[in-house]
Amino acid sequence: MIKEKYTKNIMLGELGEREKTKLLNSKILIAGCNELGTKILANLAYCGIGTIGIFDSINRPESEKIISAKIWLEKNYKDINVKTYNEEINKTNGERIVREYNLLIDCFDDYQSKFLLNELAVKCNIPMVHGVAAKNYGHATIIIPHKTPCLACIFPNVDKEAKMQEEAAAFAVNAIGAIMSQSAVNQLLEIKDDLENTLLTYSSENMKLKEIKLSFNQDCRVCGQK
Ligand SMILES: [Zn+2]
Repeated sequence: MIKEKYTKNIMLGELGEREKTKLLNSKILIAGCNELGTKILANLAYCGIGTIGIFDSINRPESEKIISAKIWLEKNYKDINVKTYNEEINKTNGERIVREYNLLIDCFDDYQSKFLLNELAVKCNIPMVHGVAAKNYGHATIIIPHKTPCLACIFPNVDKEAKMQEEAAAFAVNAIGAIMSQSAVNQLLEIKDDLENTLLTYSSENMKLKEIKLSFNQDCRVCGQK
């Protein structure tokens, strides 16, 4: 019933039974319960994902935002299995948590959390859709461990203590949220898209979409081969 109810006409158009079943059996972790995270959560729930885990930043285990998101999901999508965590994520318990999922969605709003999730994704070999929305700017890419560059390859010198102070404008959140949601569905359905090896940046102020081609850093401390 859930398949008929939620996946009749999603952003990919008509889906076959195989694709609907695949989405229904998929388990995704939304990491970061901010505006971007809740936007993607709503998109993916609508697409018929069967299990959705919600996690906030490492120092905010089960925040009020997570509780509200869980209540909203359970009210609107009764058949979705919703999982929340009342613990701080770290390298030890993080591995156990991420291994429960097929796909991770990085919406964290601090780089310490983002890089920890990246390390866990590479270590456990789980794809991760990465994104940022701050002020009028946003960017997104997909990290497929050992197939595409990881976050530490892309941003080797980023200050991990840095937080995205600027609140994101609604249009940037909507645009990046849609791009990340589509990439997540593509990944779950094994549809190759151009977000692989590409950082797509978006400015809602001047409507500029840019593609930055990415490459591996052979010396990367997370995924490097050396
Ligand atoms: Zn790397």
